Amino acid sequence: MPAASAFAFDNSYARELPGFFVAWPPAPAPAPKLLFVNHALADELGLDAAALAADDAAALFAGNRVPEGAQPIAQAYAGHQFGGFSPQLGDGRALLLGEVIDRRGRRRDIAFKGSGRTPFSRGGDGKAAVGPMLREVLVGEAMHALGIPTTRALAVVATGEPVVRDRVLPGAVLTRVAASHLRVGTFQFFAARGDVEALRRLADYTIARHDPALAGTPDAPLALLEAVARRQASLLAQWMNVGFIHGVMNTDNMTISGETIDYGPCAFVEAHDPQAVFSSIDHGGRYAFGNQPHIARWNLARLAETLLPLAADGDDEAAVQRVVARATGLIDAFPAWFDAEWRRGQRAKLGLLREDAGDAALADDWLALLHAQRADFTLAWRRLADAGAGDEAPLRALMAEPAAADGWLARWRARCTAEDAGRQADAARRDRALRMRRASPWIIPRNHRVEEALAAASEHGDLAPFEALLAALREPFDEVPGRARFAEPAPAEVTAGYRTFCGT
Ligand code: AMP
Ligand code: MG
Repeated sequence: MPAASAFAFDNSYARELPGFFVAWPPAPAPAPKLLFVNHALADELGLDAAALAADDAAALFAGNRVPEGAQPIAQAYAGHQFGGFSPQLGDGRALLLGEVIDRRGRRRDIAFKGSGRTPFSRGGDGKAAVGPMLREVLVGEAMHALGIPTTRALAVVATGEPVVRDRVLPGAVLTRVAASHLRVGTFQFFAARGDVEALRRLADYTIARHDPALAGTPDAPLALLEAVARRQASLLAQWMNVGFIHGVMNTDNMTISGETIDYGPCAFVEAHDPQAVFSSIDHGGRYAFGNQPHIARWNLARLAETLLPLAADGDDEAAVQRVVARATGLIDAFPAWFDAEWRRGQRAKLGLLREDAGDAALADDWLALLHAQRADFTLAWRRLADAGAGDEAPLRALMAEPAAADGWLARWRARCTAEDAGRQADAARRDRALRMRRASPWIIPRNHRVEEALAAASEHGDLAPFEALLAALREPFDEVPGRARFAEPAPAEVTAGYRTFCGT
């Protein structure tokens, strides 16, 4: 099959939003070599990747042969980066090739990352390196396997061209699939220019694409704000319940779709710590683990500001006041929406089926215990399932002082026993442990394992560690013999010195 007809493109963004992008071709790669293809995702998209000859696939995913029907464009967007506003960011090293309707009828963006300079590149080279692009594969696939909404990697090609960072690294292009690349920053781009007409077209497009039920309703802009806020509340709750630290929650990295996007300086917390920060540039801890829900709300307030002129046009001061009050009410409601989702996830991880007034305190005290005992976040949740099955020893072994868990465990057992009233005790315990092991993964992308796999791929061209880790990440809830090394935390000294990097 020729690369030229791989996808059935239907490019609504390019068609419906002239003025929102610059048409721009990918830079050719001198010696493309395919490093990764996501066959399951390709199948979802109706692409028979296995039928592509390796050379054709490499040329396709390097951008050397732009497929028929693609209309490569660099999208315009702005964004608050670490709280400071940049009125023009845009796709500086990315291109949207177009959209395809997948087998389930969902419109998905197909985009390149690392495909060369564009009019939005500012000082950057438009390129990406093998390590960070394979990192995006690993973390994105892990998130997907954990059931968390995310953009996903379809392919990675080594370009055969060096890219210069703090060292010279092998270059790469990633093909990314997303529900869309609409961001809070896309709205900010037009709001910053006072272009209400463009904002209206953008809001209409966004609603048609992500919230079609809202189309044509009088209240659509604020209803869109609420829909986005609820998706983000759910997303953030899921991040917090697996220990995910995004690392760079700038408004240009927050999607309207509710998918996780932009796996740059992300990391997973090891020993539980709300203040955990790994990003080398996050000096103030703005994007620390425990701060993420607050930042999400802050970002949503920035989105709200862009939508106000659409929700209240005209000079009726009272109407403007009403709109502002409603938007403020939505932003103020976000913490409660987040909390409800977060608590629901925690209940599942605690093995509880019924809601109880004491649940929040029980969960808070558990997290405080993990923090005080420097317990590994992921393994502690997982070993709590063993405790649910009747074996508390593995959980206690994670604590600095094993007896410190006594009081909390007694409370939790009492709560479980109350819930199990009337049931055969062994059966209830078995069911609980099963449910808990579906809610708390054994395998997450441990920072040291990710780095190890990327170093082998990037420095030695050895993809075997990457592939072994990827296989484990795709079955995060299964305790497969032989995968213990992926489940174990890094030595504390390694984690203490671990730094991640942006713009790589
Ligand atoms: P990020 O931190 O990856 O979300 O990127 C923030 C902004 O910087 C976006 O506008 C990117 O397109 C741009 N950018 C990041 N890396 C590069 C690069 N190597 N060349 C050009 N633009 C870049
Ligand atoms: Mg970004």
